Amino acid sequence: MIDFEKLKQIILNNNSFLLTTHVNPDADAIGSEIAFYQLLKKLNKKIVIYNPSQTPYNLEFLDTEKTIKKFSPEIDSNICNDVDVLIALDFNKLDRIVSMKDAFNSSSKIKICIDHHQDSENFVDELFIGLDYSATAEIIYDFIKKTRIVELDFSLANPIYAAIMTDTGSFRFERTTPALHRIIAELLEKRVDPGEVYDKIYDQSKFSKIKLLGKTLNSLMLTANNQIGYMILTQNDFSEVDGIESDTDGFVNLSLSIENVRLGILFIELKSGFKVSFRSKGNLPVNKLAAEFGGGGHINASGARFHDSKLDEFFPIILNKAQEYINKYQ
Ligand code: 5GP
Ligand code: MN
Repeated sequence: MIDFEKLKQIILNNNSFLLTTHVNPDADAIGSEIAFYQLLKKLNKKIVIYNPSQTPYNLEFLDTEKTIKKFSPEIDSNICNDVDVLIALDFNKLDRIVSMKDAFNSSSKIKICIDHHQDSENFVDELFIGLDYSATAEIIYDFIKKTRIVELDFSLANPIYAAIMTDTGSFRFERTTPALHRIIAELLEKRVDPGEVYDKIYDQSKFSKIKLLGKTLNSLMLTANNQIGYMILTQNDFSEVDGIESDTDGFVNLSLSIENVRLGILFIELKSGFKVSFRSKGNLPVNKLAAEFGGGGHINASGARFHDSKLDEFFPIILNKAQEYINKYQ
């Protein structure tokens, strides 16, 4: 059980807040920030939001007041000391905020983390972790309902809805329960338009993103008796279609949509280093697989980032390890 009273006291007893979220933010990351921003605004608090990444263009509609700023290590090194409280949303390991981690870590201010991922690192003063929640934004919803700290209105309901919709794979993953649908019902009563949110997030793609998807699918291979489907995107692929990393959000799921495949992997070469996304079905714990390489996540969705390493070198090592997991978890 999350100690919501403690969280409430931290909010009420302080005046200024910095919100941040993980690199390559998804709709739960941005939605949680905007919901928390709206909550704090209703309490007349001072709020800034700084992220290590640019907001992906399909999530910009959530940032209705254009509050989110991209952190610049040269210009913004002091921002984490200019507020009373730092709030980490939707991540629980310091290295998930890459360029911001030194500024965050060296700050002497109160630090808290609100998140729903496993294996939290002890990088803040207070962890508010709820592993049973479908999304970090659902924790914020519950916090509002249980403490009545503010009234739930459209400005809160819309980002919370967007976050839950995306983190549950549009209401199909494990944590899509009757109770969650009751929460959704309440959000819709606050005039959230599900068709509009879906359209903005998933159906307003840039041409370059769909071309990049084509390249990704072209690279698809099967291995381990057709139980692993993997895809590779190189820097060359990105430059050929003018694509960017955030365009790849959701691509990995397609490797799981093939018969017999239990483990889907997407390798993405970055300007420096590379990133791997893992998705699985059933009891195959890809969070453990990712943890073998310093990453993390959930049992069926995880990832790892390699900041300086070469993809060519690690590709066979990762694929071998993935095959071991296929054999171990039948
Ligand atoms: P994605 O593959 O969509 O980037 O990430 C899937 C899940 O894995 C997310 O829940 C995310 O929190 C987690 N994840 C992705 N990359 C990393 C990483 O480098 N480190 C950790 N600890 N978790 C990651
Ligand atoms: Mn999340």
